[in-house]
Amino acid sequence: MNELYYEHYNLSDHHTFQLSSRCRYFYPADHESHIPTIFNFALKKNKPVIPIGTGSNIIFREYLDAVIMPLRMKNIAIISNANIDKTQALLKISAGYSWHQIVQWSLQNNLYGLENLSLIPGTAGAAPIQNIGAYGVELSDILHEVIGYQPSKKIWRTLSNQDCQFKYRDSIFKHALRHDFIITHIILNLTHQFHPNLTYPPLKKYLSHHYENNNWSAQDISHAVCAIRNQKIPNPNKKPNAGSFFKNPIVNQKTVLQLKKKSPQMPIYKVKANVFKLSAGWFIEQCGLKGYQKNNIAVHTDHALILIQTGSANGTELLDFSSWVVDQVYLKFNILLTLEPTIYPDAIYNQA
Ligand code: FAD
Ligand code: NAP
Repeated sequence: MNELYYEHYNLSDHHTFQLSSRCRYFYPADHESHIPTIFNFALKKNKPVIPIGTGSNIIFREYLDAVIMPLRMKNIAIISNANIDKTQALLKISAGYSWHQIVQWSLQNNLYGLENLSLIPGTAGAAPIQNIGAYGVELSDILHEVIGYQPSKKIWRTLSNQDCQFKYRDSIFKHALRHDFIITHIILNLTHQFHPNLTYPPLKKYLSHHYENNNWSAQDISHAVCAIRNQKIPNPNKKPNAGSFFKNPIVNQKTVLQLKKKSPQMPIYKVKANVFKLSAGWFIEQCGLKGYQKNNIAVHTDHALILIQTGSANGTELLDFSSWVVDQVYLKFNILLTLEPTIYPDAIYNQA
């Protein structure tokens, strides 16, 4: 058993925004069997446990009076299942495995379905939390099951795709199982036959422009996604950030019609009947905030949805800045943007 934990530990290297932050205890889980032990430790110390991957969707405030538990298990294997037909394969991956390495592993093994999700930072274990998605594909399209530990009941559970209640950047892990499920493995359902998903116009445009014929392979799609992302999305190692800072608002038709009257050029994406997705980045841009900087935080010059750290900031400074951005959008459009990353320790105490 791993007995190793650290006290008053510096967290700035454990989240991609790299804010100045410390925690009371830092206790890594290198095997799933360590998890109940770490919860018992936290119970004795009367502290909450916060599981983390690479911290690419987390904002840490200055001090966390908690046990931070990075999940570090890294295994990947194809598993057999009598209910799966021969065109498919189930891949079992432990929580600490890097997401982009999973995509690469699948392509090297001629398994398809993940190519559009290339280069998303983070780990397997965090992917179901917000149902990661990009370029027209979401984790829920290929996730078979999630395995994990429920600390309140001290039990190990397997959840089906349906049990996870996936929605746009949302899942049961943000609601009924909020702070009460540690994901130790995910099982993905991939295919041996490649079916390209080119529903996202910028992706198709890039491929048409850079490749001579239309016979694109999964590797071509993965390379194209990486190239587009590298052009637009700042590398957190160079410009600390947490990806999209705000969620795209999901609204009904009445709201769309009201906004459209004032802003006919506003981008609108229909999700289903009477459900529409708007572009949070577009709202911020329309407020004239692209590239705007206050002290050590800025709206990125190439991407209005991404906030970056430009100097040495802490969580309070970042969250004051983001609240100010939310206010500007609300005053101009009457649209309330919500934050995508999880704020700790706030999230432990707020149930909303
Ligand atoms: P963390 O940030 O460490 O954790 C995220 C949340 O999950 C936290 O609440 C944490 O407590 C919880 N958690 C972590 N591991 C576990 C576990 N094993 N069990 C239970 N809870 C856990 N997201 C997208 O959807 N699409 C994108 O295209 C995308 N692009 C990004 C680009 C950049 C540059 C950055 C910085 C982020 C981007 N993101 C994107 C957000 C982020 O990559 C994903 O949300 C990712 O899944 C987070 O993984 P992580 O390991 O870093 O999780
Ligand atoms: P983009 O292509 O500039 O598009 C801006 C927004 O419009 C995106 O958020 C996207 O929503 C939406 N959109 C564009 N075309 C769409 C279509 N045909 N159908 C439905 N929605 C459409 O986006 P980007 O910022 O460069 O990001 C590219 C992809 O990577 C997106 O899928 C985005 O979600 C993902 N990404 C996510 C993060 C994160 O931290 N969550 C960070 C970087 C990139 P969707 O977001 O729903 O796709």
